[in-house]
Amino acid sequence: MINAHFQHKFVIMKTLSGIQYCALGAVEGIGASAHYLKFDRWGILLDSGLDPHLPPSEGMPEFDLIKSDPVDAIIITHAHFDHIGSLPVAIQNFSQARVYMTPATMELTEKMLFHALQLQRRLGNSNATQLYDETFLDTIHYLYQTFDYLKPFPLHGKEESQLRFTFYDAGHILGSAGILIEWKGKRIFYTGNTRKSSQFILKGARYPEPPIDILISEATYGADPIAESIHRKTEIRRFAKRLSQHLQWGGIVLLPVFALGRTQEMIMLIHQLRLKNQIPVVPVYLGGLGLRINQIYDRLLHKVYPEYNHGTIRSMVFDRWDLSKKIQGPAILISTSGMMYQGSPSFEYARELVSSPRNAIFFVGYADPETPAGLFREQRIEALTQLLQVERIACAVEIFHFSAHSHRRELLAMVKKMKPKKVIYVHGDAPALKWMLEETQKMLPDSEVIIPPHGKRIDLLPSPGGRSLC
Ligand SMILES: [Zn+2]
Ligand SMILES: [Zn+2]
Repeated sequence: MINAHFQHKFVIMKTLSGIQYCALGAVEGIGASAHYLKFDRWGILLDSGLDPHLPPSEGMPEFDLIKSDPVDAIIITHAHFDHIGSLPVAIQNFSQARVYMTPATMELTEKMLFHALQLQRRLGNSNATQLYDETFLDTIHYLYQTFDYLKPFPLHGKEESQLRFTFYDAGHILGSAGILIEWKGKRIFYTGNTRKSSQFILKGARYPEPPIDILISEATYGADPIAESIHRKTEIRRFAKRLSQHLQWGGIVLLPVFALGRTQEMIMLIHQLRLKNQIPVVPVYLGGLGLRINQIYDRLLHKVYPEYNHGTIRSMVFDRWDLSKKIQGPAILISTSGMMYQGSPSFEYARELVSSPRNAIFFVGYADPETPAGLFREQRIEALTQLLQVERIACAVEIFHFSAHSHRRELLAMVKKMKPKKVIYVHGDAPALKWMLEETQKMLPDSEVIIPPHGKRIDLLPSPGGRSLC
């Protein structure tokens, strides 16, 4: 009897072939990206972000949800903070896990994590240093394993899992990747943050050939009907014209941007416009982290894009700003944060600039509606005058569509081509997720479309007999 019992159990273990999904971080909005996938008795964490709107200790993904589950690998799509911010804590929690990313993402991740820690120290946030410190960041460096695009690799040390991964260029920032996961004949693709058409530096995403069984896709621009109607050349001309106007008036034009990605793309655009004499040559001011990331772009870009001219970004002359001194116009100011969080350099500079109509603030990327940048974009003047503690806002505010994300029609075209049986939408606010869900249901009526509730386990491929795997 005992033997028969063990034999029966053994057969069940051998034939289990379920795939489960659980969102550990935010699904709605741009919060902490962290997605758990379980394949039988192996587990993978896709991204390990931190919610940029919250203090570090509160913005973590809920790792406790999988504390009794296996985590054999942590795979990082790109080095933006909402995808890497909790990586050191994930490594503390799941000490057996391998950490996989592209070589550029590794360098950028190290830079970003060190910078974030230093920033928290400067802000006097002792919580940040309680979670981990610089010595720990130095130590975990040795856990990172890097793979280039289109070079498949297994789950090292656990090859019996039959899991295989491949990075695809996501076209979002340097090193950004979508991840193809192959397992026992099933193909799962996680887009990370993706941009199909080219930017000024990056050349646009590549996707795996169909069939894809399960697709986990971002939905950032799902509620934006404007982005899809933008003609790139017209938008560049409009940017050059408006920029020139303010510079000719002796004004200062502030571009609040992320230090990683948007900064380098905008530098390249300004560089190209200068070469074509489409804008006046004026001082360009750039902050510290942006300059350090420029160096990584300059060093690594040609490895991804061999045609990239080594050192192009460095060839631009930048003036370092000093917050204590007044900048004289005409000048261009490229400044973090992109969301203009209170206390950030872009927020402080906006306070200085807003009272003069000669000056302008140009928004060139995504901003959450409830952030100061969102208030500017939506012209919520009363809220802004209170927040900035100024009497009036007289400067020009312009929005340009130079995003690092696909617009929603591009996302739908990607989904249509892959024809997945299941689509999970994440990384978008509620209206964006809803639009993507409804349009995908119309387009692929036989597919299941899911907006995963935070923390709920979803059987993507139920195990035989409907047995739960946890
Ligand atoms: Zn990103
Ligand atoms: Zn993101």
